[in-house]
Formats: sequence, C-alpha cells, structure tokens
Amino acid sequence: MAFYEGVFPLTKNRIMKKLANRTVFITGGLSGIGKACAIAAAKEGANIAVADRKPADEAEAMKDIKQENNKAIFIECDVSVFAQVESAIEKVVNTFGRLDVALNNAGIGGEPNKVGDMTEEGWLKVIGVNLNGVFNCMRHELAQMAKQQSGVIVNMSSILGRVGFATSSHYVAAKHGVIGLTQTAALEYAMEGIRVNAICPGFIDTPLLATGGITDHEEVKQHIIGLHPMKRLGKSEEIATGFIFLACEDSDFMTGTAIEMDGGYLAI
Ligand code: NAP
Repeated sequence: MAFYEGVFPLTKNRIMKKLANRTVFITGGLSGIGKACAIAAAKEGANIAVADRKPADEAEAMKDIKQENNKAIFIECDVSVFAQVESAIEKVVNTFGRLDVALNNAGIGGEPNKVGDMTEEGWLKVIGVNLNGVFNCMRHELAQMAKQQSGVIVNMSSILGRVGFATSSHYVAAKHGVIGLTQTAALEYAMEGIRVNAICPGFIDTPLLATGGITDHEEVKQHIIGLHPMKRLGKSEEIATGFIFLACEDSDFMTGTAIEMDGGYLAI
C-alpha cells in the first residue's frame, strides 16, 4: 500500500489519475495530436469518446486508446456538419451520462495558395473544418456543459493563430478565429463553472505535415525545422501534456488563454 492510501485515502485518485472517471470528447482523435491526447487522457483514467472520420478498421484504430482504458467509444462525425456534431454529443451523454472535457482538435491543412489565387472551394473547405467545425462543437458542448454547470473545453489552434504564414490564409484565418472563439466563450461561461482555453502548437510531426507536403520533402522539412529556435519539430505527446494540464484541475484558475507549445517559434 502506498503511504498516502492510509494517510490520505481521498487523495489517491487525485495523485494517481488526473481525469479519473471524467468523460472526455476528442475530435480528430484517431491521428496525430488528437490520438496522443486520447491516449494520455485514457491513461489518466478518463472515459474517451473519439469523433473522427470513419477509419478503414475501427477496432484497429481504437486499439491503442482502449488498451489504456476500455471505456472508449468511436463516433463517426464530420465536424463541419452541425447536425452530425449535435448527434455526436448526444451519443456521448447517452453513453457516459455527461460531458466533462472536450478537445476540439480535428483539422486539415488545405491547398496552399496566395490570397489572390485562392479558390473559393479551397477557402471554404478549410474554414468549414477548422473554424466552423470548432464552432459546431462548442455550440453543442457548451449547451450540455451549461446544463451541468461544469466543464472544460480545449481548442486546438496553432502558432498560425498568432501570426501569418504565406500561402495558408485559410488556415491562418481559421486558427486566429479559434482563439477569438475561445476568448469569447471563456468570458460568457466564466461564472458557470466552464473553462475554455486553447493550445497553439508549433509544427508537430504528424500525418498532417506529410499530407501537407512538409515532412515528405527534406528541403521543406529542414526549412520548417529552422523556424523553431529548438531546431526540431514537436511531438504529439508533448502537446498532449498541455492538453492534460488544461483539462484537469491543475489549471483551475485559467480560462480564455491560448498557450504556446512551439519550441520558441513565436519568440523570434
Ligand atoms: P492529423 O494527424 O491529420 O489528424 C487530424 C485528424 O482530424 C485526422 O484523424 C483527420 O481525419 C481528422 N479530421 C479531419 N477533418 C475532419 C472532419 N471534417 N471531421 C472529423 N475529423 C476530421 O493532424 P494533426 O497534425 O494531429 O492536427 C490536429 C490539430 O492540430 C489540427 O487542428 C491542426 O490544425 C492542429 N495543429 C497541427 C500542427 C502540426 O504541425 N501538426 C500544428 C499546429 C496545430 P483524416 O485522417 O480522415 O483526415
């Protein structure tokens, strides 16, 4: 028996598991940063609901998360569709009884183009997932959390929610918008036991960077690495530590913030 079990029995869960029995909803939780956050939250004792696009093999896609906590479900959901997000949140509440933490993380990179060459379709696609998707999620999460008078929302913004990046105006505009949504909702719900914060990662080595033509082109990859004073890409697991901090009671006095986890990118 550990020393605290006899002396402080009520603190055992607090010491051992930061999210014991909490219900955590994560969009885009089958890949990259979202998956690392889902695994970290499951390790901290949370029930996990992953909302993502349908994988080829659902059992395989959920395996690493369920290995940490078997109380984990997959919900097929396109975050850019309001009604699908509404159904997803209903499913979370029907399954686990409540919604304690939401990580609005699903996102795409989009086709690179200068503003003057951007297609309407390319613009709307990125805004649809990266900005409207976060609004759709917050809209339904906050309705549920307001009923509970408790909850935590973490939105995945980016360093590109703070500064510009040539050829990514759609992505940059969406990620700036996510910080605005975060701050506004934080003000609206501060007195209702609901905290809303964001994370701004630097470039993180995930499938998004490969499909975005960064990690699969050595010259581009080295250029991007060079933009970070630490001279490396971040790891999904490093961002997950920030998510757990914002999701649990360690950050109880924080709302409306956007924390930068970026290897020094924004310090230059
Ligand atoms: P990732 O590995 O591509 O994971 C994103 C996940 O979101 C994938 O499972 C993806 O499904 C899913 N998704 C995409 N569109 C969706 C939709 N409409 N509805 C539901 N799920 C959807 O990317 P990541 O790098 O982990 O990125 C996660 C978040 O972090 C994004 O918001 C991204 O903008 C942000 N971020 C990333 C970086 C970075 O350098 N990687 C830096 C700053 C911020 P599919 O696999 O089917 O597309």
